[in-house]
Amino acid sequence: MNGRRFQRRGHKDPGSAEKKHVFGFLNGFPTPALDEAGLLMTAAEQLPLFRLPPAEAPAKTRHVQLGSRIVSYTTRPAQRRMSLNIDERGLRVSLPRGVPLREVEDFIRRHGEWVLTKLDEYSSREVRRQIMLHDGQRLPLLGGEVTLRIGQGNNRFRWFDTLLELLPRPHADIDALTRRAFQGKAMEVFEKRIHLFAEQGGYDVPALSLSAARTRWGSCSRETGIRLNWRLIHLSLDLIDYVVCHELAHLRQMNHSARFWSEVAKLCPDWQEKRQALKQQGLTLPIL
Ligand SMILES: [Zn+2]
Repeated sequence: MNGRRFQRRGHKDPGSAEKKHVFGFLNGFPTPALDEAGLLMTAAEQLPLFRLPPAEAPAKTRHVQLGSRIVSYTTRPAQRRMSLNIDERGLRVSLPRGVPLREVEDFIRRHGEWVLTKLDEYSSREVRRQIMLHDGQRLPLLGGEVTLRIGQGNNRFRWFDTLLELLPRPHADIDALTRRAFQGKAMEVFEKRIHLFAEQGGYDVPALSLSAARTRWGSCSRETGIRLNWRLIHLSLDLIDYVVCHELAHLRQMNHSARFWSEVAKLCPDWQEKRQALKQQGLTLPIL
């Protein structure tokens, strides 16, 4: 959660804050080791995905006028400096005790353009991501799309080229059935890619399991093997491959040292581009 903010004494221009925004959303966790997934896998190295906002006591909402728009914001105490933070919950201002409201509003106005852009980004992203599954719904699969066909049956599903046919029992949970279909597809595809890259890099093929973590793309442990987030199946194969190679490389280097990255590069020479693409595309995935 660090990262997505302007800091009052910083010398960052909006451009660098923009970059940090995307980066911070994925990597800015202060204590990843204490993450839910991390606790299960102490020796594991993990790729962060995104973190859902924690529950918090409702804060007092204030308003400020930015151009022709009224923007609400909440405040929270900060130790030293004032900063702005925007996420699914909207604009929040961290400020030290005793800063007059007028100064807070000036601060927001100075970054008004950034604030409005980010708020708009978040609101469109949330709309896109919350999906009500229905017949004809299109869902991302392997960088392309499949269309849902919903019939009736015995809680089964069938994959066709660009079609996923769901045959739920009456009153069945369509979301759960869809997830099951995607998870099955994920397992099938990930297995193949792990075999391919393990062989290519001279690794013993590790055990594979799927995770549904909201915070990680993958993790690796010498004891339990590789866990991959099934939601990766929405993304194109080259991004899945990057995560596979990343986790495989952890079997040799349980860290993110230069040696680790050179192991990754042996399997996936353009890992840097893929890593960047993964960060961006990960933010747009539907939440099934
Ligand atoms: Zn890693």
